[in-house]
Amino acid sequence: MTTPPERTAAGGRASAERPRVVIIGTGFGGLFAVKALARTPVDITLIGKTSHHLFQPLLYQVATGILSEGEIAPATREVLRHQRNVTTLLGEVVDIDVTARTVTSTVLGRTTVHPYDELIVAAGAGQSYFGNDHFAEFAPGMKSIDDALELRGRIFGAFELAEIATDQAEIDRLLTFVVVGAGPTGVEMAGQIAELARRTLKRDFRRINPGSARIVLLDGAPAVLPSFGEKLGDRARRQLNRIGVEVQLGAMVTNVDADGIDVKDTDGQMRRINAATKIWAAGVQASDLGRMLGEQTGAEVDRAGRISVLSDLTLPGHPEIHVVGDMMALDKLPGVAQVAIQGGRYAAKAIRLRLEGEQPQEPFRYFDKGSMATISRFSAVAEIGKLKFEGFVAWVLWLVVHLMYIVGFKSRFTTIFHWLISFLGRGRSQRVATQQQVYGRLALEHLGPAWEASKTGGPKDQVFEGGDATHCESA
Ligand SMILES: Cc1cc2nc3c(=O)[nH]c(=O)nc-3n(C[C@H](O)[C@H](O)[C@H](O)COP(=O)(O)OP(=O)(O)OC[C@H]3O[C@@H](n4cnc5c(N)ncnc54)[C@H](O)[C@@H]3O)c2cc1C
Repeated sequence: MTTPPERTAAGGRASAERPRVVIIGTGFGGLFAVKALARTPVDITLIGKTSHHLFQPLLYQVATGILSEGEIAPATREVLRHQRNVTTLLGEVVDIDVTARTVTSTVLGRTTVHPYDELIVAAGAGQSYFGNDHFAEFAPGMKSIDDALELRGRIFGAFELAEIATDQAEIDRLLTFVVVGAGPTGVEMAGQIAELARRTLKRDFRRINPGSARIVLLDGAPAVLPSFGEKLGDRARRQLNRIGVEVQLGAMVTNVDADGIDVKDTDGQMRRINAATKIWAAGVQASDLGRMLGEQTGAEVDRAGRISVLSDLTLPGHPEIHVVGDMMALDKLPGVAQVAIQGGRYAAKAIRLRLEGEQPQEPFRYFDKGSMATISRFSAVAEIGKLKFEGFVAWVLWLVVHLMYIVGFKSRFTTIFHWLISFLGRGRSQRVATQQQVYGRLALEHLGPAWEASKTGGPKDQVFEGGDATHCESA
């Protein structure tokens, strides 16, 4: 079924004369672009495949029971409820036609076509298993709320299963946790599992000693936190050792299965680590939308799927298309939140200036505000310009910066409360793991094609045009 194109502004008012801005992605790039257009007379359609804005840097705290998923993932439409020029729509973008200037999104079998005058693409990146996608079943990544909840179930579940196991080898396997990737996410994850085992769960079990859990952080590279430089990387490695994390560097993962992980060391030796819980924190792959745009515009796409943008973040021959954040490749900028935030704001300003008939801006310049990673409670490393911090000072900096960027007063308030419970006390208030969280993804994957069919939830031939959400009844 197809309906004629129709434009509907936020609040249901038609405003045919206002330029239509479509923004793909409710992450840092997309959300900050929307906010920067709050006072610009445009009609924005924000399309996201989830209904929340996700603060990815704190996913590891959801996975280890410190924070709830709601605290790091507020509903996007709630965040934007006062911004009248934006319509927020749930949908996965499956097509962009740069000639017709349309974006097609789909959710539960309902397909919607959104015409645009200006397009900002901020669809981010997913996990990369470097061509070994079958590892994902046994070693979930850390990219979404689903990942974090599944990992939470696996981590807490491993201790439960160890408590009822009778064979020592099986207990050892259940109490071994391997984190692959010694970048900030891997370091934070390994540090938190160590604290969970040695502090939080210390008195909770009768038959096992959670403190005896083995936590291994491994990486094929020769350093921990390579982007922080040798001094801070070394400091982080020593701190991890102190809290009982085994750091294994120069260790390439060659296989992952249900019972463990196979590793090849730099001397060519192969070895196996028996471990029930494996976590993949290595490698990213940009959204497929980058490749789709590359094919249509001729822009180069690198091996990680990032699309090369011009110095004003647009695509060659398409000043109306900006690509920002983790999806874009420009001057080897890192895939961090600030690149996405500043890119989103830059794209929004470019649109406003064009509408006002002003001169375009100078080329995009990233202002590096620094980077930081926590290792354990009260200990972190941070690099701000030429200054390097470590220990408690870095941890306080980390605390302040993360609170500043968590969206919404309510989330900030409860986050402080839960941090007090975890950092000053021993508790973790989010230890629930449902069966669906632990087994849901595996069960769906085993359904194979039947799962794909159930995902679309109905006939695919319903196409609505004009971005009019009123045509899309709930499934
Ligand atoms: C575990 C983890 C920890 C991190 N820690 C830090 C940190 O400490 N500091 C830091 O600076 N950075 C950190 N990062 C990186 C940072 O989160 C990213 O650089 C940033 O989120 C990129 O913003 P983005 O808008 O490009 O993409 P994202 O924030 O990933 O947003 C992409 C959005 O697009 C949506 N989307 C994707 N495909 C489609 C589609 N086809 N249709 C519709 N919507 C789609 C997604 O649902 C999502 O809402 C971390 C990342 C992870 C995963």
